[in-house]
Amino acid sequence: MQLKPQKKKSSSFTIIIGCGKLGASIADKISDSGGDVLILDKDKDAFRRLSPHYGGMSVVGDALDLDKLKEIGMQKAATLLVVTNDDNTNNMVAQLAVHLFSVKRVIARVVDRDKEGIFNSKGIQTFCPVSLSQERIGQLLSADDPVVDQIVDTEGEDNR
Ligand code: AMP
Repeated sequence: MQLKPQKKKSSSFTIIIGCGKLGASIADKISDSGGDVLILDKDKDAFRRLSPHYGGMSVVGDALDLDKLKEIGMQKAATLLVVTNDDNTNNMVAQLAVHLFSVKRVIARVVDRDKEGIFNSKGIQTFCPVSLSQERIGQLLSADDPVVDQIVDTEGEDNR
């Protein structure tokens, strides 16, 4: 796919790197709401995770290839979401986006939470699935569970 380089930033253009389950679901969501979105993945089979109704662009390529980043219009992106399965790739691409392409909002997935500080110190916003899961599990474990209580009560009634 060839894309003309465009210098002007679009206020809403979002680029997503990595079409795993997470990347694909966000791309679908942006597309569903009428947003301008492009998703890049080095594996062309990854795009089958997108909904059949996906209306954005999908491009095969390695995010570590600078020419590919120019070709997909990184210079005009307002937001970049980097969600490959590799922290080093995510870090590298996110840094290029901030420093070379002046992308205002750059969000990266970080698998190893010890690395979050490195990303943040470079102006990259992060989320760590392990930390988010831990937080949620902590909430669930500390909360009373009315559904379970109800099931226990009902079972008691049936046995009477
Ligand atoms: P998942 O771990 O399932 O969320 O998927 C991560 C996705 O990132 C996979 O579809 C990979 O093919 C993709 N990916 C990994 N490294 C790169 C890269 N350097 N450039 C583009 N896509 C990548």
